[in-house]
Amino acid sequence: MSAQHRPVALVSGGSRGIGRAVVHRLAEDGYDVAFCYHSRPEAAEETAEIARKSGARVLARQADVSDPAAARAFVAAAEEELGPVDAVIGCAGIIRDKPLVLMAQDEWQSVVDVNLGGTYNICRAVAFSMMKRRSGCVVTLSSVAGVYGNAGQTNYAATKAGIIGFTRSLAKELGGRGIRANVVAPGFISTDMTAGLPEEKTRGMLDRIALGRFGEAEEVADLVSFLVSDRAAYITGQVFQIDGGIAL
Ligand code: NAP
Repeated sequence: MSAQHRPVALVSGGSRGIGRAVVHRLAEDGYDVAFCYHSRPEAAEETAEIARKSGARVLARQADVSDPAAARAFVAAAEEELGPVDAVIGCAGIIRDKPLVLMAQDEWQSVVDVNLGGTYNICRAVAFSMMKRRSGCVVTLSSVAGVYGNAGQTNYAATKAGIIGFTRSLAKELGGRGIRANVVAPGFISTDMTAGLPEEKTRGMLDRIALGRFGEAEEVADLVSFLVSDRAAYITGQVFQIDGGIAL
């Protein structure tokens, strides 16, 4: 594939975890990739270096997705450097777990602003250009917590349920223009986000997972790779759980 014919993917939260695996997988698939991160430039540089080894052009940029202007600037830089965006994958996300009665206002608000606000900000910044070109593809990251709910995660689960409503609505709004939008809802995946779980909680979770293990970020990236590909050309507005058979 020649450099100028590579499609372009834009990944939010691409420096670590699932986003990093998505960046690497899409670079291997033949995409040029722009990704943003929040506060760890070393992790971002490492991710970019590996992706470049697949022959991809890579743009790594600091941008807080909860800030609409920063999200717009990230998308504009990606379009300027790599060209129009063909696929958007919203991976940026945070947790601030607490029982509701102990949850501070900022623990609620920051999760809403990054997870749900960030998904809106990134998609809003990309959608018009996709509509004009009558093609494109969106994959958002929800969670099994957004499907079933999870004690101690009212803030997180609310945003992840919101992402499902957002994405299904987007699929209906943009389907007529040839744009697809789907949701990936992982269970427990081995990343920094789950590394901090207390051992007791981890053991309890493993008991509820039919396959008896946490998933790998690369397994989620495989699903994303399929969803943005032409093999998924007739799939839109769907929620794909990738959770090893979890019962919450
Ligand atoms: P992670 O390892 O903690 O990585 C989070 C990524 O998001 C990092 O690249 C981080 O950048 C970036 N990020 C955080 N806040 C941001 C902000 N305000 N603006 C821009 N980027 C930001 O998380 P993960 O486990 O890969 O999770 C990825 C997505 O999958 C999240 O949406 C999460 O909710 C969802 N998910 C994860 C699991 C799981 O078990 N891991 C399960 C279900 C759903 P920095 O490196 O700069 O901080």
